[in-house]
Amino acid sequence: MSESTLPVQNFLRPGKISLPALPPMSLYVHFPWCVRKCPYCDFNSHEWRGEGGAQAFPEQAYLDALRQDLEQALPLVWGRPVHTVFIGGGTPSLLSAAGLDRLLSDLRALLPLDADAEITMEANPGTFEADKFRSFRASGINRLSIGIQSFNSEHLKALGRIHDGDEARHAIEIAQANFDNFNLDLMFALPNQTLAQCQEDVETAISFAPPHLSLYHLTLEPNTQFHKYPPTVPDDDTSADMQDWIAERTAAAGYGRYEVSAYAQPHRRAKHNLNYWEFGDYLGIGAGAHSKISFPHRVLRQVRHKHPQRFMEAAAAGNAIQEEREVDARDLPFEFMLNALRLTDGVKSELFADRTGLPMAKIARALAAGVEKGLLVDDPQRIAPTELGQRFLNDLQGMFLEGEKK
Ligand code: SF4
Repeated sequence: MSESTLPVQNFLRPGKISLPALPPMSLYVHFPWCVRKCPYCDFNSHEWRGEGGAQAFPEQAYLDALRQDLEQALPLVWGRPVHTVFIGGGTPSLLSAAGLDRLLSDLRALLPLDADAEITMEANPGTFEADKFRSFRASGINRLSIGIQSFNSEHLKALGRIHDGDEARHAIEIAQANFDNFNLDLMFALPNQTLAQCQEDVETAISFAPPHLSLYHLTLEPNTQFHKYPPTVPDDDTSADMQDWIAERTAAAGYGRYEVSAYAQPHRRAKHNLNYWEFGDYLGIGAGAHSKISFPHRVLRQVRHKHPQRFMEAAAAGNAIQEEREVDARDLPFEFMLNALRLTDGVKSELFADRTGLPMAKIARALAAGVEKGLLVDDPQRIAPTELGQRFLNDLQGMFLEGEKK
């Protein structure tokens, strides 16, 4: 860990791993503000309390800082094409149309974006204005990820969301009118939610025929209001029933489950997220953003300053990075599996050496043990969890801690 980014030459030295080629590269841009902080949320999002309400966050200053941050990061990713962009948060749909346009112009000016790059923006109901979303599309956003969470106004209230069921539907209608590719985020096992209410939410979502669905089990994360004052949530049997019903219903509606929480129509998988799960590279800019950047003989991880004000000051001073470390070669197998085994079909076996720069022999014993326990499929061409492996995913991933030592 260091206070400052070292010169790029430092990362080009020989090392313990040898990557045959650099992985595909994505860009993540973090927008750190929301109208209100939800009690279940452990993301780096801050309620904007400035004069003038929710729109009064320092848009220009933050966009300046993002550009500075990106300029400072360029030597580490020089010339590498960017295949996907994800503008997440927070609530990036609070950006003005002109602000978003400037952001995308800056990204295009500084990075070689693929002509057909998937460019996703997270958007929350309650911030949907038809004109603004038309402009977002014209500026180059080609995929929306909408934080619906529920269509039930009572549950939305319990979740502290700023929108109600009608606004959720209205947001999807605006998305449909402007974007042919969009995702709906929904949560289940909500406070006091019944199986029938969960079914109603999912049925409503499916009725809009979204190309992609993300269905998350509510979790009470540390450092959240819900963790401090836990609401009454459905018991394990009920939430298991919800999960089983979701599996059947989404499959019947033509959605393939390809990751723990991700369901897609054919050819509509989220390319950006797939790159994470396939242990690709990503540069993260903005407050608290994480990066993973590979070099021929090492993998670097970085975290930007988390608090928006601190991040803006640090970027203006020439270095927004708070933490930086090289991943120990012994940790790479576990980091790879933490991602790859989330995928229902797993990955081709050769991806392990391609992404970690380590020989398969490093994980041979753990793979054999996984197969023997019925947690991994018995196929030398693929590393993929069985149904049992998906159910006990943490145990399976843990088998790859420190490579062969476990
Ligand atoms: S809108 Fe999303 S990012 Fe913002 S506080 Fe709520 S859950 Fe967190």
